[in-house]
Amino acid sequence: MLEHDVIIVGGGLAGCRAALEITRTDPSLKVAVVAKTHPIRSHSVAAQGGIAATLKNVDSNDTWEAHAFDTVKGSDYLADQDAVEVLVREAPDVVIDLEHMGVLFSRSPDGRIAQRAFGGHSHNRTCYAADKTGHAILHELVNNLRRSGVQIYEEWYVMRLILEDNQAKGLVMYHILDGHIEVLRAKAVMFATGGYGRVYSTTSNDYASTGDGLAMTALAGLPLEDMEFVQFHPTGLYPVGVLISEAVRGEGAYLINAEGERFMERYAPSRMELAPRDITSRAIVYEIRAGRGVNINGSAGGPFVYLDLRHMGREKIMSRIPFCWEEAHRLVGVDAVTQPMPVRPTNHYCMGGIPVNTDGRVRSSGENLVEAFFAAGETSCVSVHGANRLGSNSLLECVVYGRRTGAAIAQYVQNRKLPNVDEQRYLKEAQQQVQGLLEQKGEYRIQEIRGSFQETMTEYCGVFRTQEIMEEGWRIIQDLQEKSSRIYLDDKGSCWNTEVVEALEMRSLIVVGKIILASALNRQESRGAHFREDFPQRDDSKFLRHTMAYYSPAGIDIDYRPVAISMFQPQERKY
Ligand SMILES: Cc1cc2nc3c(=O)[nH]c(=O)nc-3n(C[C@H](O)[C@H](O)[C@H](O)COP(=O)(O)OP(=O)(O)OC[C@H]3O[C@@H](n4cnc5c(N)ncnc54)[C@H](O)[C@@H]3O)c2cc1C
Repeated sequence: MLEHDVIIVGGGLAGCRAALEITRTDPSLKVAVVAKTHPIRSHSVAAQGGIAATLKNVDSNDTWEAHAFDTVKGSDYLADQDAVEVLVREAPDVVIDLEHMGVLFSRSPDGRIAQRAFGGHSHNRTCYAADKTGHAILHELVNNLRRSGVQIYEEWYVMRLILEDNQAKGLVMYHILDGHIEVLRAKAVMFATGGYGRVYSTTSNDYASTGDGLAMTALAGLPLEDMEFVQFHPTGLYPVGVLISEAVRGEGAYLINAEGERFMERYAPSRMELAPRDITSRAIVYEIRAGRGVNINGSAGGPFVYLDLRHMGREKIMSRIPFCWEEAHRLVGVDAVTQPMPVRPTNHYCMGGIPVNTDGRVRSSGENLVEAFFAAGETSCVSVHGANRLGSNSLLECVVYGRRTGAAIAQYVQNRKLPNVDEQRYLKEAQQQVQGLLEQKGEYRIQEIRGSFQETMTEYCGVFRTQEIMEEGWRIIQDLQEKSSRIYLDDKGSCWNTEVVEALEMRSLIVVGKIILASALNRQESRGAHFREDFPQRDDSKFLRHTMAYYSPAGIDIDYRPVAISMFQPQERKY
């Protein structure tokens, strides 16, 4: 059996930042990072627009209190304000620390880190490296990790969390290269496994964002928090769904409908294109529903609107957002200097996740914690984003809470012994699971089931929701889950068998999708990204609380956890 003091699953920003902090705090600890991709292929590398921090380089009036207020208002008052305070107070320090590690941020003419406007932020506080910020940060973090002696298991798929008697003890993992399975035990386990974008048919996320960490946690009997809050980013490039960063609007682009009108005037007159994402995404869908969307031939009544950069000029476009220009050019043949880009909302981010406290310790219920289990980054829910995340606050969360969780783990494992794990039992169960997949004579291809599932989630649990529609979605997904046990694999080999991985990922997708649907059905109000056409108002008397959903194959139980309100009392949310 493999052994480490600490195992971190996930080589994105949150996992790498935590690993680095552990080795900085106590270099004698044996730390491992496991990832199903190479770490620098984690979705973090695709982050474009930037990372928020009140450095005051551009806007000297900015304060951490203003950043906190914007974040809480953006969250539709569901964020835990103690966690938000930590996030925004530590922000300037983590950004400076990144720069000391070697991250090449874009500069203002006087040499300081440049900062741009972003949706829902009242000041220019988003630091960036052109529109490749995630790339710049993740490459430096991984470089630093390589020097720190952390062991990296790359292209290993973690299949199971070993949790016994409310204590995390280790993992079971499958080597994608040759199909062999290992059990790994540790004094502490951390999940930094990212989001679940692939639950939806159109998403800005990469192929690996299948919610595995969320599903493994739920299957181990632990709750997931606030899973009904799914962020749809307003500007996915039509028809591919690839992200066109909010930085494009931060730099001054307009949203226009088929009539050439800047329609955000109707929905958020004070913030226009820089309203938060939930409001902007709904506005685009309203325009499309009202027949003011655009068709491929430019006529009205189509499925997208335009993101118009033409007034910005070639020089600004090429220096500030070159990657977004390139994406539109390469993927849909649009030259944004002279033509508007076709966009519509695309699935983007998971506000909910594995419930944790501000040290990254996982909660087993509203009041209790699990021993030796930690989480950070997009897969976790410390609840700094509540019902709607502001752009550039997620990279920040990964770095602030990655660092804090790393520091907490380094303390936690001092004087702890390695747990006892029945290696043979876990090995055998996992081998049987994989063997079963390889041998079964099923009726369905993975792609058939996965495609129908993603279409169902998109259609029945998207930007707009009602009870009737979601109940129908639930029935379809129950049926698909049953069919998913009757898939067959063409590849029976052990070398780089991606079908085995896809089959395991499909289980994750369906578990996560069901939890999203059940949580969304239960929340009979509209708040942030969760919009119920049958309950269009926010209802603080019943739902100013966090959902805690417990999965079992028989059904999903819902409980609640109170919201921490320390600085700002809930108000009506207007922009
Ligand atoms: C296109 C795009 C642009 C974005 N732009 C911004 C931005 O400008 N600013 C901002 O703040 N946020 C942005 N975001 C959001 C932000 O990038 C993510 O929320 C954040 O990077 C997530 O980091 P993470 O470390 O939590 O997870 P990820 O970077 O997603 O990493 C997850 C890791 O877990 C591993 N993993 C998952 N499952 C398993 C398994 N079963 N076994 C082994 N390993 C596993 C993966 O291999 C990977 O290494 C953007 C997101 C997207 C999709």
